[in-house]
Amino acid sequence: MAVKPTDPWNTCLNTTLEQEDKEIFQIVENEKLRQWSGLELIASENFTSQAVIEANGTALTNKYSEGLPGARYYGGNEFIDELEQLCRARALAAFGLDPEQWGVNVQPYSGSTANFAALTALIQPQDRLMGLDLPSGGHLTHGYQTNKKKISSSSIYFQSMPYQVNPETGFIDYKRLEENAALFRPKLLICGASAYPREFEYDTMRKIADQHGAYLMCDMAHISGLIAGKQAHSPFDFCDVVTTTTHKTLRGPRAGLIFFRRNRGDDLENRVNQAVFPSCQGGPHNNTIAAVAVALKQAGSPEFQQYAKQVIANAQKLAECLTGYGYKLASGGTDNHLVLWDLKPQKLTGSKVERICDMVHITINKNSIAGDKSAVTPGGVRLGTNALTSRSMKEDDMVKVAEYLHRIVSIALRIQDKAGSKLMKDFVAACDGDEEIAQLKKEVVEFARTYPMPGFDPTTIKASVTF
Ligand code: PLP
Repeated sequence: MAVKPTDPWNTCLNTTLEQEDKEIFQIVENEKLRQWSGLELIASENFTSQAVIEANGTALTNKYSEGLPGARYYGGNEFIDELEQLCRARALAAFGLDPEQWGVNVQPYSGSTANFAALTALIQPQDRLMGLDLPSGGHLTHGYQTNKKKISSSSIYFQSMPYQVNPETGFIDYKRLEENAALFRPKLLICGASAYPREFEYDTMRKIADQHGAYLMCDMAHISGLIAGKQAHSPFDFCDVVTTTTHKTLRGPRAGLIFFRRNRGDDLENRVNQAVFPSCQGGPHNNTIAAVAVALKQAGSPEFQQYAKQVIANAQKLAECLTGYGYKLASGGTDNHLVLWDLKPQKLTGSKVERICDMVHITINKNSIAGDKSAVTPGGVRLGTNALTSRSMKEDDMVKVAEYLHRIVSIALRIQDKAGSKLMKDFVAACDGDEEIAQLKKEVVEFARTYPMPGFDPTTIKASVTF
């Protein structure tokens, strides 16, 4: 049978991105060059695999599938049902969970929406929750508010009393948390963090939750890859609900998951599923769910355990080298993929070090350190080894990375001196045309390009920029 001709106004539907939209194509190619040519140390990022990228860009994006497998509001979902069931099974398998005891919703668009859906499922508006404070390493969605303003919807719609780390030790102050919980009587305790280099004491958190008949939820977003890779303690033994993003150490596409206990007699399964849809979201992003399923298959492999082990070994080596240079790290080291580097003893802000790093193609982020006076100019930076480990870097490479970072600090100190003021705008101006920065950038780019690039072939990049 002959195929009918394409209408002239539809010819754009079968052209490549490069043919169809040169501007977007160019941005993508330039970003690929940037990723290949730098050292990616942002603890919440990773380089996902070619298979994940492929799945993410499939025709599954066309399909609406509100509801759950077998109970949809739209027709034509036989393959989407198969996909979602497979993704759920892989999610449970990746974390070694018994499907009789645990279920999972794989539809959340991202970590923040997963967390808000979990709160919607677990507690009522204006109920009380306690999560790790953002300046102590917690995430916005764990009830963040300042003295002046409720920032996150998790503090706008619920009453929040954050707990903190001890600023002297950098470890969570569980004693104080227990005392405050006795006064605040939360309905929900949240463990998990965005910038906490240590293991959580899940058993202690469970004990405190039980003292108040509260739910215990873990947001394992940062460390879910380490847990799947069997290199970090599992929160599943202690928690009622566990949420995660899928794009940090887990190395998948950008999405979220919510795991819930099945055997509590309080119908968490229905409550979580209803909270995701229809309470907080509409139709699932099926292309993303396919990509999550691919990432979960990879995360369940023995190779992924080696990856997770190397991520931690690299972070510990980086911590050791920075300490060797005389720098101060929050909590003195790390159990996981991240290092929280306190720059206050150097009289530098995280923003200034981040700025020079950016100029030499090392990507990091400024981060508050417990006890910082100002949240606007945080006193430290957060470094993560998950992305570099995906580029096959090992401990020896961390020695080099630490050396680069040490050189950056000495450049930042010299420029701060030269700027003649502590103001960021003067610092930025004083960086202009600096030869040492230009030299270091050249070295970093050369170094970075000697490592494999996950997800795409760097020799085929058609960038319009050079570094
Ligand atoms: N939870 C934690 C612990 C995070 O660190 C983050 C993001 O960094 C999120 C949730 C939010 O995830 P997303 O940016 O996908 O909404």
